[in-house]
Amino acid sequence: MRGRPSARVKVAPAPARPRGQAPLPDGAHPEGVLPDGAEPDGARPDRPTADDWAAAVAAVTELPEGARVLLVCHVNPDGDALGSMLGFGLGLRRMGRPLGELQATFPGPPVVPQPFRDLPGLDLLVPASAAMTDPDLLICFDAASESRLGELIDRLTRARVALVLDHHASNTRFGGIHLIDATAAATGVVAEQLLARLGVTLDAGIAECLYVALATDTGSFRFDMTTPAVHEMAARLIATGIKPGDISRRIFDNRPFGSVRLYGDVLSRARLEPAVAGGAGLVWTYATLADLTRHDQEPYVLEPLIDSVRCATEADVSCVVKQTGEGEWAVSMRSKGAVDVARVAVALGGGGHRLAAGFTGRGTEQDVIAAIRAELNAGPDGRDSGGRGADGRG
Ligand code: AMP
Ligand code: MN
Ligand code: MN
Repeated sequence: MRGRPSARVKVAPAPARPRGQAPLPDGAHPEGVLPDGAEPDGARPDRPTADDWAAAVAAVTELPEGARVLLVCHVNPDGDALGSMLGFGLGLRRMGRPLGELQATFPGPPVVPQPFRDLPGLDLLVPASAAMTDPDLLICFDAASESRLGELIDRLTRARVALVLDHHASNTRFGGIHLIDATAAATGVVAEQLLARLGVTLDAGIAECLYVALATDTGSFRFDMTTPAVHEMAARLIATGIKPGDISRRIFDNRPFGSVRLYGDVLSRARLEPAVAGGAGLVWTYATLADLTRHDQEPYVLEPLIDSVRCATEADVSCVVKQTGEGEWAVSMRSKGAVDVARVAVALGGGGHRLAAGFTGRGTEQDVIAAIRAELNAGPDGRDSGGRGADGRG
């Protein structure tokens, strides 16, 4: 088995530069809205350093002719995972480097969730079982830990170089080169900045993918991470000619009628527990495989369910428990700010952001809810008010 990429990458460290003066290719972005991700070493531990950017650029530009590149994203991919990965893949293609092979993949069933079946770059996708086993360069998108790569973990170990792009503060730095920006609204933001440094000019295909990444992880530009820089990036993307209205309809407002009836069943069993988490309050519901079967629906239709539950003003914490198998549940948690749900998710074996996190639950739905309730009540005074973090959906 080949060694870890960090030991094999030969990259001359770039001199530290003042913020905003990282070398950017001419014409990649208009003056005044340059991506601004580089920091002098040690200046911001939650953002990539100038050396990190230089190493990432070198990992791509120093690929030998015929090199084989594998792009991977996290299991059960969302708009940011797929959008950042495919957008970057299209950008690599646009660079016109003579690559031997370029593949994109994700662990688990090789089924693209229905809202993303029109994304540009889908032709890059291969099932995990068909993904190259020993890439020269592996690039990982939106995965906070290697456990999110499922059966693709072996590719990570065997890759000559592994580059990790992410925006989870909890990222375990499992690659060789890391571009992890915990201040970024989406991994798509990091991908756009790397493409700019590689001299790739945005086209409509790349832009649509990155727009999907940005729109999904900011909750359609509603969450706190929606900074001026996010809107500036959206402006750059829309300037390529993409149609935000069409894209939003396709990814957010495009589910079968049966899912509307399914939501009726599932929302009618929602429960409010005002005393949980020191009085911050918990609202929760659950959906079973039988619910899906009864309404002839696929699991993807349940992804936005948390948004219908978390609007309850009376609860700071919201939670949806979605059955994925016998005694197995995918749990989505959200906070309005008083409670750090990442702490709860990590304690229960998962991860995520302070205001949006998840984990895999075991047992009955009542067992899973009981574990969440207990963990929420076990926080500092049943309430956690510290820290700052991303609040994107994924
Ligand atoms: P979701 O509720 O699926 O939209 O996920 C919200 C956040 O929680 C995302 O940042 C995910 O990365 C994280 N997350 C969800 N499920 C898991 C899990 N099983 N393990 C680790 N992180 C998770
Ligand atoms: Mn994600
Ligand atoms: Mn994300």
